[in-house]
Amino acid sequence: MLFVNNSAFSLRVLGGNISSTPFPILIDERLVPGFQNNLVEPNPEAFLPTGPLKNMTPTSFEELALAAPIKRALAEQGYSTPSPIQAQSIPILLKGRDLLGIAQTGTGKTAAFSLPILNALHTNPQRPRRKSARVLVLTPTRELATQISQSFDSYGRHLRFKKTLVFGGVGKNPQIRAMQPGVDVLVACPGRLLDHMNEGDIELSGVEYFVLDEVDRMLDMGFLRDVKKIVAALPKKRQSLFFSATLAPQIKELAHTILLNPASVSIAPEKTTAEKVDQAVCFVDKESKKDLLLNHLAEQQGKGLTIVFSRTKHGANKLCKSINSHGFEAEAIHGNRSQPQRERTLTKFKKGTLPILVATDVAARGVDVKDVTLVINMDLPNEAEAYVHRIGRTGRAGATGHAVSYCSPEEHEFFIDIEKLIQQKIPVDISHTYHHEKLASLHARGIKSPESTRDNGSKTRKGGGGGGRGRQGGQNRNPQGQRRSSTPSGGNRRRRRRP
Ligand code: AMP
Repeated sequence: MLFVNNSAFSLRVLGGNISSTPFPILIDERLVPGFQNNLVEPNPEAFLPTGPLKNMTPTSFEELALAAPIKRALAEQGYSTPSPIQAQSIPILLKGRDLLGIAQTGTGKTAAFSLPILNALHTNPQRPRRKSARVLVLTPTRELATQISQSFDSYGRHLRFKKTLVFGGVGKNPQIRAMQPGVDVLVACPGRLLDHMNEGDIELSGVEYFVLDEVDRMLDMGFLRDVKKIVAALPKKRQSLFFSATLAPQIKELAHTILLNPASVSIAPEKTTAEKVDQAVCFVDKESKKDLLLNHLAEQQGKGLTIVFSRTKHGANKLCKSINSHGFEAEAIHGNRSQPQRERTLTKFKKGTLPILVATDVAARGVDVKDVTLVINMDLPNEAEAYVHRIGRTGRAGATGHAVSYCSPEEHEFFIDIEKLIQQKIPVDISHTYHHEKLASLHARGIKSPESTRDNGSKTRKGGGGGGRGRQGGQNRNPQGQRRSSTPSGGNRRRRRRP
């Protein structure tokens, strides 16, 4: 068994961002003779990192025993490093083993199965029999079938092989004509393939390589019976590859019937930031936040670095002064501080000589300090995505991270948005003296606090906050807080530029 974590592949993370994130890969490369009766869900806990084996993982396509024209095509595609599923599956598949792959789209699984298959077609070229296929790839949707077909084309661009696509919603005749002389590779969706089989357009007894892709989706779409019928038409002697994002009982059962003595590879997307960081919310009155913060800072002393987030630059400054006046060493970084000032502060923080950093969202974006063990959201961001960025400042490089958010009744809606975005309920910390039970109870019942509106606490308040109409001497403010004239035409009048 080995645990590899060697690839920088793209993965969607919360908030719609794409990050370069390593996929942990779990692989059970043992021969498991009883596997047919013993398909087990890979258990991440059971797989420990094993140093020496790690070196066996190919880190470049050059190390893989693929034919030169395939490597050339990969180089032309700009592929240099195999993704974890490719690094692990390709050597196994080149040996002729069956494979159970627990992986989703986006992990590079198409190349993981198509490269060894193309290699086999290249090293053992044979004329396919009439109305027959040497390779059958079964996939649930047209879009996937088309993508797979395109992948075969691009990875096999320097090879000679015949390939055709079969799915519903388009005319049958071109498909029949394409299959008539026999094909090397047939990429198909189950329903239409079964129609063709029933009408004698294709028969599957010559299939040498069978790929069942996205099995979980296949079952969700109600293709189980069709798949079983297709599998029944395949020859016993074949190499089978089975890919699914999950291994639910029904899927395991199907895998039993298809695979023979398979190796299994499981690629789990790395946990999202929100899953990695230990989070809590303190429901608290606006006025009590500072005292609560001082308590948290006192508890945190000697336990690592802390970032306190403030929504505004002014707020960050004030807060920093207040923290300092209570004997804690803190400095602020925000847009009003000069670049050298910010850099000096950050250097001290990184070195660990400054234990507390007070920051605004924008200033903290690039802060990558691995010893940050606590993030405190003094006030909640008005954009939920910012929350994910904030808490992502802790729990870096495998370290444990904690994030505590203070939510006052006025900010309740921001908090609701955050939980919606991360699709998690953030545990409520009731262990402090300032716990706001009324707000906690409203939240638990899914009721928005009456004090909460989206404008609360943001810089741009509706209706001003600057003293009202009377003080503006005939002017009032527009919703952006800018002055506008009270005369009917005044607001639209263009100002002439001064020369
Ligand atoms: P898949 O999971 O097969 O749909 O692949 C996801 C995307 O990753 C596709 O756009 C592939 O072209 C790309 N891809 C697959 N393998 C590699 C690789 N080794 N290096 C770079 N890109 C890759």
